[in-house]
Amino acid sequence: MSSSVALRLPSIDGLLRHPACAPLAERYGRDSLLTGLRQLLDELRPGVLSGQLSAVEIGVEVLAGRVGERLAQQQRSQVRRVFNLTGTVLHTNLGRALLPEEAIEAVQMAARYPLNLEFDLASGKRGDRDDLIEGLIRELTGAEAVTVVNNNAAAVLLTLNSLGARKEGIISRGELIEIGGAFRIPDIMARAGVRLHEVGTTNRTHARDYEAAIGPRSSLIMRVHASNYSIEGFTARVPTAELAALAHAHGLPLLEDLGSGSLLDLTRWGLPAEPTVRQALLDGADIVTFSGDKLLGGPQAGLIVGRKELIAKIKKNPLKRALRVDKLTLAALEAVLGLYRDPDRLAERLPSLRLLTRPQADICAQASRLQPLLTEILGSVWQVSAVEALGMIGSGSQPVARLPSAALCCRPQVSKRWRGRYLLNLEAALRALPIPVLGRIDDDALWLDLRQLDDEPAWLAQLPQLQVDR
Ligand SMILES: *Cc1c(COP(=O)(O)O)cnc(C)c1O
Repeated sequence: MSSSVALRLPSIDGLLRHPACAPLAERYGRDSLLTGLRQLLDELRPGVLSGQLSAVEIGVEVLAGRVGERLAQQQRSQVRRVFNLTGTVLHTNLGRALLPEEAIEAVQMAARYPLNLEFDLASGKRGDRDDLIEGLIRELTGAEAVTVVNNNAAAVLLTLNSLGARKEGIISRGELIEIGGAFRIPDIMARAGVRLHEVGTTNRTHARDYEAAIGPRSSLIMRVHASNYSIEGFTARVPTAELAALAHAHGLPLLEDLGSGSLLDLTRWGLPAEPTVRQALLDGADIVTFSGDKLLGGPQAGLIVGRKELIAKIKKNPLKRALRVDKLTLAALEAVLGLYRDPDRLAERLPSLRLLTRPQADICAQASRLQPLLTEILGSVWQVSAVEALGMIGSGSQPVARLPSAALCCRPQVSKRWRGRYLLNLEAALRALPIPVLGRIDDDALWLDLRQLDDEPAWLAQLPQLQVDR
């Protein structure tokens, strides 16, 4: 039975005047506090009327505390730093490449001050934002000209629309790929207004297939890096040089979407070979498109490089204006490209390359060092072991290649029936940490791949806050 004296919620005015609320008004603003208090009182009212809440639960101090928590929660940024211990280095869902300090400084400068984004300081006349990085790109790739857009998907869309609209684009059936997040070559072609003329088969396409497709309605031949899949076995693909010769013999341009598009031969760092932009151009591709934030290790951007007159045509397309990059991106991109001028020091200066080339022995040592600490925090239900693991480059680069790494492998010591639930609970607890920790569940265990655990002190400092539900 509720007491005969009906409980009443404190009034808004009373709450606002109370000393417990004053610091909240100061911190979050009076309007936010008022909104927060109103919402809270509205939520509590039914409980008060039905007698389910006690006087203590609706005390002024308690309410102030609850509103304070709520406002703090609302003020916390939605964009959060996380620890990427998934084993995938260039993780699209986790922001891909990390920028080097040089690029971070350049972004800060561009954010803080006016700059010569489209202003030629030498002549005092209006400039073109692509000019800011054209010299570097030409030097690093051998291209005649360049233009930059928001991402590689935009680069492909813009290039196709500029060079092939209302005509046919010829492409091998083995290259009609889908990349995560609804980027499908046939759809992009359709949106670009280019009629798809597919040739060959999924596993084998020959020069004669392309040749037979060339006709009066053809506008271009396109080649797409298979990125996130690989065909093994009975396959045939026309080498770029041969395809370029064929295209040029018929007066058509060859476009090559390299996806990641490395600027340097990665095998010098022991990584799997990726086609370089320079080689694609040397082989005769007229336009090459690639991402800024995949293997290049820079900001999200789409680079379009190649023959001068084709680039000029692309830049005249009104879509270019809709897809152009902002000053922060250009500042970061220039700084990253600058690092490529000194390849000997690139692996220490460019975070993505440093992480991709981190020696396994290093990661193993780190895993052994951290294993006892995590064991102690997780308690006896969990068996934590430091083990070798295989990571991935990510972002559609070398889907089959694996990066030898090391991980903390956490196995719940419970019957099979409960394992799934324990694993999900641990995963959720790691995500609930101030800096969420993201691993991956595989083979009845939760794996924390340590290749990317740079900031070990921050990771360790928050571990005692881990609260795993059973
Ligand atoms: C990743 C990729 C794209 C899309 O690049 P974004 O920069 O993510 O827009 C396009 N084509 C290929 C072949 C890719 O690998």
